[in-house]
Amino acid sequence: MAHVAFIGLGNMGGPMAGNLLTAGHSVTVFDLVPEACAALAGQGAAVADSGQAAIEGAEYVISMLPAGKHVKGLYLGEDKGEDKGEGGLLARLDGSVTVLDCSTIDAPTAREVGEAAAAAGIGFMDAPVSGGVAAAKAGTLAFMCGGDAMTFEKARVVLSAMGKNIFHAGPAGAGQVAKGCNNMLLAIHMIGTCEALEMGARNGLDPKVLSEIMLASSGRNWSLEVYNPYPGVMDGVPASNDYQPGFMVDLMVKDLGLAMDIAGQAGVDNQMGQLARKLYEAHQAGGNGPRDFSSILERLKG
Ligand code: NAD
Repeated sequence: MAHVAFIGLGNMGGPMAGNLLTAGHSVTVFDLVPEACAALAGQGAAVADSGQAAIEGAEYVISMLPAGKHVKGLYLGEDKGEDKGEGGLLARLDGSVTVLDCSTIDAPTAREVGEAAAAAGIGFMDAPVSGGVAAAKAGTLAFMCGGDAMTFEKARVVLSAMGKNIFHAGPAGAGQVAKGCNNMLLAIHMIGTCEALEMGARNGLDPKVLSEIMLASSGRNWSLEVYNPYPGVMDGVPASNDYQPGFMVDLMVKDLGLAMDIAGQAGVDNQMGQLARKLYEAHQAGGNGPRDFSSILERLKG
């Protein structure tokens, strides 16, 4: 069993660290919020009072933070001109440690941190996840990893305690690119599914029957199959629980912004993705940020 330092114990990181403990790993945690650390202490984790203290003796360092600036600050340190790089965790680690950043961040920052780690001889991967809080709790996340093959193999032992599908997408930054591609497609097929269901319902069809027809036809997709956005069609999904998240509109807007950057950096004219972003931003501006992303159906209801 491995000794893991886990930094960032929010909605996702908390249950992920919990699953590492359940699998028998020894885990030292740190979060800026003391209550988040206390919850993990109750499950058997050791609590450190800083990121630097958490990594002492660790074989693996895992982070689950909100955005690129947090990840860059943690690993490379704050940018203080001449002193750039001091205070970051990479300067305190050696080549025996494997570092996995599971946050969803911009690909250029993931590449920058990955390249700085490689220059220091440290195995680093960006390993963003798909699946949301429910999958984080159940230990069924999908990991999309960007880094070298040796780091990927070393990472399996800890990632398999938190997820069931672990993919090597390519070199540093490739995990974030894969995540951006996936979530852009998710936004597009969620909006398309809402439009098809509302169109059918307003023309007198039962949305449940229409869902069954499309599930057995060429319109089949994930939003229709496991996350039906029409209230009352499917049990146990946000649509049948007043659109409690789930996966918040705020996070979808964040991910679509990252996806637009990925497209723009490669000169891809992704018009469907751009439209999906505009629609989700408008939905967010209407006060729906904390609601589940399938609530975009209500845009069609006026
Ligand atoms: P969250 O805001 O609930 O948790 C982030 C945690 O990081 C907070 O507890 C915060 O205190 C802590 N933190 C921030 N900076 C820190 C630092 N320097 N040192 C220590 N702790 C620090 O966010 P979340 O929902 O857990 O999401 C985390 C990441 O996972 C994000 O990048 C998000 O986009 C991604 N993600 C979220 C979901 C989801 O459904 N929530 C799904 C997939 C991916």
